[in-house]
Amino acid sequence: MRNQIQSIAVRNALLNWFQAHARDLPWRKTQDPYGIWLSEVMLQQTQIATVIPYYQRFLRAFPNFKRLAASPFEKVAEQWSGLGYYRRARHLHLTAQRIVREFGGKFPSDYQKARKLPGVGHYTANAVLSIAYNQPLPALDGNVARVMARLYAWKGHLQQSSFRRAAERKLQELIPLENPGAFNQAMMELGQTVCLPRHPVCEACPLSPWCRAHRLKIPERYPAPKPRRPTESVHLAAAIIQKDRKLAFIRGLDEGLMSDLWNFPAAFGKSKGQALKRLQEKLAKATRKVPRLEKTLGTLRHNITFRSIQVTLHRAKLRDYSPRSGIRWFSIKDLDHAPVSQLARKIAKAIILDHHSALSRHNRGAGLPRRDQAVKQR
Ligand code: SF4
Repeated sequence: MRNQIQSIAVRNALLNWFQAHARDLPWRKTQDPYGIWLSEVMLQQTQIATVIPYYQRFLRAFPNFKRLAASPFEKVAEQWSGLGYYRRARHLHLTAQRIVREFGGKFPSDYQKARKLPGVGHYTANAVLSIAYNQPLPALDGNVARVMARLYAWKGHLQQSSFRRAAERKLQELIPLENPGAFNQAMMELGQTVCLPRHPVCEACPLSPWCRAHRLKIPERYPAPKPRRPTESVHLAAAIIQKDRKLAFIRGLDEGLMSDLWNFPAAFGKSKGQALKRLQEKLAKATRKVPRLEKTLGTLRHNITFRSIQVTLHRAKLRDYSPRSGIRWFSIKDLDHAPVSQLARKIAKAIILDHHSALSRHNRGAGLPRRDQAVKQR
């Protein structure tokens, strides 16, 4: 009974605070499951400020499931370009097609059916169903998990299934039958704006009277940090193939990474030599010709999740390649709107810089008079 009274007090304090402090976000102005689902997908791993303009542009280009489903994926990827994690764009497109085909263009209100859609995990299903269809399902993301861990001073972290189960059970006690979507959004908002990872603003928190971590004066210690996977150092050889001021790209990087994105042809290896050998084999297989990999253009470093990658760029010559090689040609200008990886953008930038410095070296070497020399000669 005491627990129940406390749960009601916590819930009411949170909802009152949310009513007064909720930020004016575009997806909060709609009850349309399409817009709510779109925002939830975009917000996975991406900051709110980054998502807002993408969300608005995307909605203008594809205002509903039907328009999104009918569009070619390339157009969807163009609108997504720069938001990262392109697998989400692929899932978004596939989900829209399934919804049009199987559910008449309406996001299903049944949890089991929603979960079968590409890219709709437990969290996304609960978030969409609670906000769009008023179903009392807890939406436990990283921000909500942090608030819960501190409120009850729980040990453990979100990656542990025992932690997730306990948090969901407790959230289920707190979530109201009426307007559960507002409750879920209020928990997320509190985690994003008040119960911050490093410096929680406990004095502005509506839950401080019940918060155990606050009472213990050590809120930052909750939740426990998740164990880190050790960093792996690898080499990547990438081919820069140029034709008529355009550069060759192929879909996917290597070893199944970035399969939806255009990349410079590349291959991983444990050593520089192994990466280069694998790249040569890969190009020979794709083009049915043994490529001529010429001098090294330079190296750069790039990190993808736990991989620390030393990238070596090789200029390559490719004559008479097969049209079935999967190669697509992009100019540097095209890259602004094309679905290419961040690594490919970084390489393109390095090529431009190299080109400019080579040009200035050339100009100096050719004896073109600098302004001061020109004056002296006169
Ligand atoms: S009182 Fe502090 S630690 Fe507790 S939930 Fe609020 S902001 Fe987080």
